[in-house]
This record gives sequence, C-alpha cells and structure tokens, in this order.
Amino acid sequence: MDISYILNELGEERENYFNAIAPPIVQTSNFQFKKVDEMRQTFKDEFKHYIYSRGINPTVDILRKKMAALDEAEDALVFNSGASAIFCAVLANVKSGDHILSVKEPYSWAQRLFNNILPRFNVSVTYIDGTSITNFEEAIRENTSIIYLESPNSFMFQLQDLRAISQLAKSKNIITIIDNSFCTPLYQKPITLGIDLCLQSATKYIGGHSDVVAGVLTGSHQLINKIFQSEYLNTGSGATPFHAWLLIRGLRSLPARLDRITHSTYQVVEAMKNHPKIERIIFPMDPSFPQYELAKKQMKNACGLFTFILKTDSLSKIEKFCESLHHVMMAVSWGGHESLIIPKCASMEAHEFDAKNPEHRAVRMYVGLESPEYIIADLTQALDKI
Ligand SMILES: *Cc1c(COP(=O)(O)O)cnc(C)c1O
Repeated sequence: MDISYILNELGEERENYFNAIAPPIVQTSNFQFKKVDEMRQTFKDEFKHYIYSRGINPTVDILRKKMAALDEAEDALVFNSGASAIFCAVLANVKSGDHILSVKEPYSWAQRLFNNILPRFNVSVTYIDGTSITNFEEAIRENTSIIYLESPNSFMFQLQDLRAISQLAKSKNIITIIDNSFCTPLYQKPITLGIDLCLQSATKYIGGHSDVVAGVLTGSHQLINKIFQSEYLNTGSGATPFHAWLLIRGLRSLPARLDRITHSTYQVVEAMKNHPKIERIIFPMDPSFPQYELAKKQMKNACGLFTFILKTDSLSKIEKFCESLHHVMMAVSWGGHESLIIPKCASMEAHEFDAKNPEHRAVRMYVGLESPEYIIADLTQALDKI
C-alpha cells in the first residue's frame, strides 16, 4: 500500500462526516441501539462493533487502520501509553510458570514489569546480550513463552538480528515481541521479518510534537483480537478519541519530519564525531558502529537519536556541558520538534560515577526539527566551556 494513501486516505470515510478533510473527534462513551436483537448480536463480539469507547471508537479506528497498514500487519491497537502497549502485549502471552527471554536493558518500564510485577505471578525473566543469536539459542528453556526485543535499544542502540530470532522462536512456538520505537514503521518493519507483535511509543515520532502520550501495538488479527478481548478491555488503557485525533494529525507529516530529522542527524553526528572533546559517537548508521552491517540490512535508516561519549574525567564537566546549552533542552523522551539531551550520569549518584567507564560519560542526544547549524552551534559553544 502506498504510504501517501495510508496517511491521507486509509480509514477515512469523509462522506460520513460532511466531507470534512480532518476526521471528527467522536467524543462519546457509548453508542445507541434501536433493536434488542442488534444489541444481542453486537454483545457477541465487542471487537467488531461500536458499543462503548473503552473498546472500539470510530476516531481511534481510523488510526488503528493506518498503523496496521504502516507496519504491514493485519491489525493494530492504540493505547494511552507505550508502557501500556508493553504491559498488555506481555501479559496476554504469559501464564504462571512461564519464562521470558529479554534483551538486556530494554525500556525501563518493561524492566519493571519483568522484575517487579511478573515474579509475583511466578513468571521469570532472563536478560541476555541480544547481539548474538547463540545467546538466544542457549537461554531458551522449555517454559519460555516470550522473546522480548528492542532493536535498536534507545540509549546504546544494540541491535538484534530480527529474521534469525523470529525463525528460531517460531521453531519453538515462542511469541516474539519487539519495541520498534527507535525506527518507527518507516525505517523498520519487524512484522515483515517474522516478528509476531510490534509495539512503539507513539509519544515519540508518531505524535511528533511532545504533546501526547500514546502507544501502538500491531500483529496478526488473532493475536491482536486476543489482547483486545482481555488485557485491552480489562485495563481500559485504550487511547482516547482526542489523542487518536492528535496522532492522526501527527502522522500526516511523519515522512517529512523524519526526512528532515534524518538529514540533520547525519550532520550533527558528523560534527560531533570530529570534535576534540568527544571520544566517540554511537549511531547505528555510522560505519564505526559495531553492528553497522546488520543495521543496513534490516533498517531503512536511523534518525534523531545518537549517543556521544564526552572526553573528560569529571562529573562536574559533564554537568557544566549540559547546563551550558542555550537551545538544546535537557529532558526525557524524544521524537518531538525540539532537540534534547539526557546525560547518563543523571541516573546515578555522584559517588557511583566512574570516569573510566565510558558509559558514565555518555550523553544521549535527540536531534529535532531546528536547523542543523543551530543545533551544532549550541552544542559547540557548550563543549567549548568544558
Ligand atoms: C518512551 C518509550 C517507551 C514508553 O512509551 P510511553 O509512551 O512513554 O509510555 C517504550 N519504549 C521506548 C524505547 C521508549 O523510548
């Protein structure tokens, strides 16, 4: 399906709402029936009908169709956060006694689910270095029911070979789930590589304006239906019509924004790479990246996020750099219009800082929609201060 068609037309029935170009926000909790039998039939499958907006809602449906098509998946659900997409996708596919195999250091709230919540229900997890397929082969157990992936990771960007892992998982009847937030469906399509469930934080590039928190999950109709009928309806964590509307709005300009961000990111990476105060940069599409070949094989491109290691021996110099920026802001999240940094040292106490550990000197950068010259000039003046 043509991406222009998906973003501009798919799922939109303009003749049903005054030929308006923008879809209506169908801000209703419930839907009326005129016949008892119609109501009776509808109750049999809430996934197919409008009954109540905790289930299916017309504005959210437009977005679901577009997101499924972008991922080349049969179906999609939209959640009120990426974290709830993770929660529901995982919960739907484990039972007491099961084991999850996860890449090490997945998104923090995936870790908390694995470490804090699931053990209470006798579900265990093993974290492995996902850069080698052998590690997966060796760690799979009889009771492994999920392989949880995040490729690239959103801080140090380690990749997993998605095709090889999905083949391995299929041969053992294990469900594969991937967090695809870094790439978006434009730069990586895990479902086409055999992954079962693909999720992303739509808070990032899909919303694109730092004003909505949401998540998307795609997969086969069977897997998505199973999650809808249980975890989705039970947690009540579906996106609201207004948030779906904002995400549809964000989607219209997604290709243009990603193009711009990609172009700028390569320029910022190039400038930082050659800067004397920077030891090295980590970016999947840079030839220095250890898994560069795999990145080129399974990703169409990379954009926005990269990490640089500051060449310094002191925590205070890292803090000085971060606090000297005039335009690039210090904040979590990414994917919006604004450039951001987050230093690794912000997640540790001063006494834990070890200058010999390059990871402690890492700063993750998100390149936004400002001009690359503007961003580079700001980074450069702040580097000059240390
Ligand atoms: C932000 C993020 C999430 C969680 O998404 P929310 O919308 O914040 O709940 C999940 N995975 C990655 C990689 C993220 O960056």
